[in-house]
Amino acid sequence: MSWAYLNNAFHKKEEVRISPYDRGFLFGDGVYEVIPSYAGKPFLYEEHISRLSKSLNEVSINKPEQWEHLKSIIGDLLKKNNFFNQIIYIQVTRGQEGRRSHTPDKLTSPTLFVESSELVTDLLLTSYKPPYINVGIEEDPRWSRCDIKAITLLGNVMTLDSMSDSGLEEVIFYKDGIITEGAKANIFLIFGEKIVTPPVSKNILSGITRNYFINLLSQNNFNIEEREVSINEIEEADEIWFTSSGKVLQMVQRINNKTLLEKDFKNTIGHKAIELFRQDVLV
Ligand code: PLP
Repeated sequence: MSWAYLNNAFHKKEEVRISPYDRGFLFGDGVYEVIPSYAGKPFLYEEHISRLSKSLNEVSINKPEQWEHLKSIIGDLLKKNNFFNQIIYIQVTRGQEGRRSHTPDKLTSPTLFVESSELVTDLLLTSYKPPYINVGIEEDPRWSRCDIKAITLLGNVMTLDSMSDSGLEEVIFYKDGIITEGAKANIFLIFGEKIVTPPVSKNILSGITRNYFINLLSQNNFNIEEREVSINEIEEADEIWFTSSGKVLQMVQRINNKTLLEKDFKNTIGHKAIELFRQDVLV
């Protein structure tokens, strides 16, 4: 049996219910976080909670009344669901009102929803090899505040849906000829020994995994640069990675069915990055 938390109680997942008058349902009026938990320990917890707090501030949603107890709610949920590795999902919407009005009532109490499910990963095994994925390239169709982790993800969903029949799992989005990110991850491009990732802006999410790898790699003397990358530079990239909390680091194998990576994984910079991550998480 799996459990979810809504407002003030735990419920069996199949029994948890919410009103259609919740503004999250009517307007996509809410924000969220996704936190991996390895061996019962949420990874980079403070960073995720601080981003959630920032997202709430940006959209002027009050902190839910359970805010101070969030850590213990998550701890209880992890114990109840009892998988070794889990992925935690937290969603806060502006809350339920008895009518549909674009302009919110400032006194509405936010809705807090938290759930977790098993995180199936071989990451902790020494033989670990990251997923190799096929990706597409698309002009970025999303809104102009992708720095906010909003639940409103129609542009991301439409893109991934249109690509799935061709076996493409991610997309390289670009805006005005400049690469932004993926539909569910940040992007890194490797040119020789140089690791490049787009700088944070309103067009991308300041990914917790992105920021973690930037720090980890620079502390280990890798040559890493945050700069704008033109979509034309894709042709010259030796490796392309996508990073996210759920998948950690994925290597791009093909772009629109054109093979990018011929190198043995052991000879890639991605391999070195994953090994550093594994050492860090395993201690
Ligand atoms: N960019 C987008 C659009 C995402 O949806 C995500 C993760 O869901 C990321 C980047 C990566 O963020 P994080 O590393 O914090 O999971």
